[in-house]
Amino acid sequence: MLKELIDQFYLDRQRDREQTHFYVTDAGKCGRALFFKFKNAPRKEMEASVLRLFDHGDHIHQLIMKPLLSVRDVHVVASEVNIPPQEIISGRSDAIISDGKDLYVLDIKSMNSMIFDKMTAPKEENIDQLQLYLHYFKVPKGILLYVNKNTLALKEFLVGYSQERSLALLASLNETKKKIDSGTIPDRIQSYPEDWQCRYCQFKAICGTAGSGELKWDSFKEPV
Ligand code: SF4
Repeated sequence: MLKELIDQFYLDRQRDREQTHFYVTDAGKCGRALFFKFKNAPRKEMEASVLRLFDHGDHIHQLIMKPLLSVRDVHVVASEVNIPPQEIISGRSDAIISDGKDLYVLDIKSMNSMIFDKMTAPKEENIDQLQLYLHYFKVPKGILLYVNKNTLALKEFLVGYSQERSLALLASLNETKKKIDSGTIPDRIQSYPEDWQCRYCQFKAICGTAGSGELKWDSFKEPV
């Protein structure tokens, strides 16, 4: 009885989520998948257990912030910092910290042992997100702190701001926004279908039906 009720809670929350603007986590993501998200296209629902894992990630963040708020060598300047309001994107970094000399944007990511153990460099998609925080906060350095969900082991990577990368990410989001507004379904990503994004994509079925190349949403959506 409880399992069904708890599962339903998470599934209902997922259904209520309609996207109307970009999040920092959308940076560098497939434009076609973003388009489908904005248009509320039919998608494969996530399982309740996967949705619970997102909540679990929030608790891990709190666990990491607790010692950082007490140690003397690092000062938490602000936690859960929203990027300044503007039209294209919203997002909230975990913290801005200082070592007494420099400021750093801190982004905490949690993952399972299988991925964590193999990791020797930060994930590209996480660097993309951090770049946008650095860009909007005008902070030149950031730290990606990875937490192993199974063992709570930690790995950290220092990332420097790249204006070129940030502007390219924002240009790509602006391009996708134009396509959303004009009802033009973007082409698939070049590395379709091998890309990791395709493997986990909730819109894989509809993307397969649409085929390759750009097409108009109005003429495509009728038969779906
Ligand atoms: S299957 Fe791949 S190319 Fe198609 S929408 Fe999803 S991520 Fe994009």
